Amino acid sequence: MTQSMTQSMTQSMTESMTQSTTQSTTTEPATSDHLVVGEVTVSRVVESVGSIGMNPSQFFPGTDPSAWNGHESELRPYFLQDDGPTTMESTSRVAMQTWIIRSAGRTILLDAAVGNDKDRPDVPSWSHLQTAYLDDLAAAGVAPESVDIVVNTHLHADHVGWNTRLVDGSWVPAFPNAEYLMPAEDLAFWDPAHGNTTVMGAGAHGVWADSIAPVLAAGQVTAWTGSHRIDDALTLEAAPGHTPGASILRLASGGDEVLFVGDSLHSPAQVVDVHTSSCFDEDPVQAHRTRDRLFTEAADRGLLLLPAHFGGHGGFRVAKDADGFRIVGWAGLTAV
Ligand SMILES: [Zn+2]
Repeated sequence: MTQSMTQSMTQSMTESMTQSTTQSTTTEPATSDHLVVGEVTVSRVVESVGSIGMNPSQFFPGTDPSAWNGHESELRPYFLQDDGPTTMESTSRVAMQTWIIRSAGRTILLDAAVGNDKDRPDVPSWSHLQTAYLDDLAAAGVAPESVDIVVNTHLHADHVGWNTRLVDGSWVPAFPNAEYLMPAEDLAFWDPAHGNTTVMGAGAHGVWADSIAPVLAAGQVTAWTGSHRIDDALTLEAAPGHTPGASILRLASGGDEVLFVGDSLHSPAQVVDVHTSSCFDEDPVQAHRTRDRLFTEAADRGLLLLPAHFGGHGGFRVAKDADGFRIVGWAGLTAV
């Protein structure tokens, strides 16, 4: 990419971001299939988007109804699936996706969705999928052997699925030349040999065996703790709560900065009420603390936040208000 192309793309992204922060949350931003952050480009491949089969009262037990009731501008159309009034009985909508990050000549995949052929008897919508994910990745210019790094922000089934694929009855690394970065705390927590009780319970069935162990056996895993510098622009940082090893990825380049915040939130309702934790948070109190810390930094510094499961335009900006935080603009990715 030439310097002038980079400059003009950066300029157009800065313009669309500036525009979006001054618009109301109901206004669609100018969009593109990628974001440019300094010298780094960001796009995504979407494995699926739609109902998670739970309403907010199930997905976010104990949530205050005021975080949902009437919040049309934050939640529709991309975060609720059904028609009708926005309440805790609406149907939650989520995306399963991978961020494609091109930085310093390398291709980095952030989170690995659900995967094909995985046996997930307790989560039927994740079981024995046959999606076109690898074709879609190829269409985005990413051949499996060209991937340099795979990052699992944490080791839940919907973040490690494409770590592996089924070949002649065996699970093999889907990205044969990649280093896989995994949080050490999650490797310890989810290792079946340790017998931990988790809120995922049987929902974690088979994940270690089909999506973690084969990559460990191939010698492709680097476990990290605290923080991990990938290159001059990218740093993984611990952000526990959702799981013990849950992490975020900080991208800072050319004076721009964004945070990929993983599963620290799953819905804009968690911005409306930062205390709202999902049923998949292993430690809801710590998850709230982490969310509050991330939103505070993002509000103070004007950072774009890109969660793992946001459909729509992929992310948002926040500001502080009297009660906590509010969304003040959406990211500029093409909506899904
Ligand atoms: Zn997830």
